[in-house]
Amino acid sequence: MSALRASVPPVSEQSGIDGGPTVPERIEIRRSARRRRTVSARVEADRVVVLMPSGLTPAEEERHVEELVARLQRSRRRLRLATQDLLGRARGLSETYLEGRADPVSVRWVTNQGRRWGSCSVGSRTIRLSDALEQMPSWVVDAVLVHELAHLLVPDHSAAFHAWVSRYPRYAEAQAFLSGAAWARGGATAAEGPDGRD
Ligand SMILES: [Zn+2]
Repeated sequence: MSALRASVPPVSEQSGIDGGPTVPERIEIRRSARRRRTVSARVEADRVVVLMPSGLTPAEEERHVEELVARLQRSRRRLRLATQDLLGRARGLSETYLEGRADPVSVRWVTNQGRRWGSCSVGSRTIRLSDALEQMPSWVVDAVLVHELAHLLVPDHSAAFHAWVSRYPRYAEAQAFLSGAAWARGGATAAEGPDGRD
């Protein structure tokens, strides 16, 4: 095991700027006689679990581990960069439409938003966007970002909140777009806003 670990290139940037996902150094190999040719790797808590058929030579195992861990590192790095881009974009929107007053700490894509397009934790200044938005026009994504950013200024959906979000020129249009998208998904009602509260 230790020989295998030594062969894996060290993971630089163990903690991303935004605390984004990194690849653990600990590697566990699970061999299965029922597994034929396929090898795969995934992160489970504090370790990388590599699944491979039993009966491989140590050299073959080592090569698979190297390749799979390198691939994981690349995909996690891409994810971190995408997350950083999103934060920069949110800050730009804050500058342009919210007088720079909304100052998020982290903005990230998530897969488990349910029917909500976005959410905002005011205390931790964290914004999450549903990855269902990734396929949508950028001006729609920006409208959801502006909505969640505005919650950093006004936590509810009061008139003060709407005064902020309406500074984004296509806000009403984006809401209509999202209502249509929600209807097409058979999910949220047309009355729901980006985070399903208004
Ligand atoms: Zn809201």
